[in-house]
Amino acid sequence: MAPAVGSCLGYVSTERWVAGYLAAVNSGRVTVVGGGFAGCEAAWAAAHLGAEVTLYEMRPTVMTPAHSTHLLAELVCSNSFKSNDPESPPGQLKSEMVALGSVMIPSALRNSVPGGSALAVDREKYAAEVTSLIEGHPRIEVVRREWTPDLAKGEPTVIATGPLTSPSLSDWIASVTGEKHLYFYDAVSPTVMADTVDRSVVWEQSRYDKGEAAYLNCPMTKEEYERFVDALLAAEQVTPHDFEEGKYFEGCMPIEEIARRGRNSLSFGNFKPVGLTDPRTGRRPHAVIQLRPENREKTMYSLVACQTRMKWGAQAEVFRLVPGLESAEFVRFGVMHRNTYLDSPRLIDQNLRFGWRGGEEPFPLFFAGQITGVEGYVESGATGILAGINAFRASSSQPLVSPPRTTALGSLLAHVTNSEAKEFSPMNINWGLFPPLPDPPRDKAVRRKMQIELARRSFEDWAAAISFVPALR
Ligand SMILES: Cc1cc2nc3c(=O)[nH]c(=O)nc-3n(C[C@H](O)[C@H](O)[C@H](O)COP(=O)(O)OP(=O)(O)OC[C@H]3O[C@@H](n4cnc5c(N)ncnc54)[C@H](O)[C@@H]3O)c2cc1C
Repeated sequence: MAPAVGSCLGYVSTERWVAGYLAAVNSGRVTVVGGGFAGCEAAWAAAHLGAEVTLYEMRPTVMTPAHSTHLLAELVCSNSFKSNDPESPPGQLKSEMVALGSVMIPSALRNSVPGGSALAVDREKYAAEVTSLIEGHPRIEVVRREWTPDLAKGEPTVIATGPLTSPSLSDWIASVTGEKHLYFYDAVSPTVMADTVDRSVVWEQSRYDKGEAAYLNCPMTKEEYERFVDALLAAEQVTPHDFEEGKYFEGCMPIEEIARRGRNSLSFGNFKPVGLTDPRTGRRPHAVIQLRPENREKTMYSLVACQTRMKWGAQAEVFRLVPGLESAEFVRFGVMHRNTYLDSPRLIDQNLRFGWRGGEEPFPLFFAGQITGVEGYVESGATGILAGINAFRASSSQPLVSPPRTTALGSLLAHVTNSEAKEFSPMNINWGLFPPLPDPPRDKAVRRKMQIELARRSFEDWAAAISFVPALR
């Protein structure tokens, strides 16, 4: 039987949140574009706060290549909303969402199916319930048509059109952001937690010692390299969807394809060891995989030039053959897929508000969901809530808000809006996004418990300060 709302993860029910919210004043009108996870959450949040919301969803008139129904909040692939463990990053994010009045998480709990430690749902029942809640909301009008900028009415607008944003809207977004700031394809290398890399094997050095020693280097002997290539060539791969077939771009070829062209092509290419000396041997290794910090705090490192289409389980096995990565904890696996997303750190602020170029603001514009560079249903929904709250606040001349860096949502936003990486790439919620503790205990389990506790406390303080009823424990 599905667990009752509020009985899992210490979630608080939407009803309680609505009842507890201080009456909204001066509410205005808000447009939300896209009826996926982010758009539904944005519309729901803005409407509950008092805004009159128009939600545009182009399906079923115009379909995306991945959706197959007219339902809002359709799950295009897996039916999992990730971990249900309240002590995990996805669990904490879900708790924060519920405390902010989420529509999707309580509905997921009501429509859950056995999923082990994950919150899994009956996809049809789930999407049908969210659709009926949104369509039945007295302050939300659902308009089934593709939104194009000529429909803009000057009111705060949230664009939440996801990884498969319609081509004409993508063109418009590229025109207002600048083309180089809108991406259409992910080619992401795996990322590992810094504290799981074996520092007795890897060393810090940039090639030819140029600039700061920014990279960690994983050395491979000839034998280790051969073993790695054997495993790479034998590894199972993800089958791309029809609309993704054959989309390799020069410069982001999967490493297994490169290895297939010749066993030495990686040691002469992506993993070439030039300008690097292993301090343990005083010599240049046969090949090197470099790790680059993903954030300022150096809590995560991504494997440079390791884009791959290997299945996730295979990635863990293959990359753990690399010296220094034997015990690596992967916080993101490599993916290569169609994904429309913004170069958000250069475009939107921590309130998810877009900074129009040239100083003029035709209307307050917010982005939410996967198009901002978060990855996943839950992460998309979480940013949708914040965009909805802020669109409402913009419509009623109130200051915009954003949760503290120490919360799960704040950590996700820090990646999206403040990432240091030269090439911004999408990410799901994970331990590496949380800020390191000032005086961290050595024990990982204790450290992580403290991080979640800090997230809870800082979220509750923030929610109380902006008049939301904090989550029940
Ligand atoms: C093939 C594929 C498989 C995936 N598998 C998973 C998975 O297993 N697990 C996971 O967590 N994530 C998965 N994702 C990522 C997933 O899409 C996102 O996590 C999530 O759906 C993003 O939510 P969103 O609200 O940002 O976008 P969506 O859920 O995609 O919603 C966007 C909505 O906007 C609508 N829209 C687009 N353009 C317009 C327009 N101009 N006017 C009006 N409406 C418009 C679309 O029809 C759509 O309903 C997958 C993505 C793809 C493409």
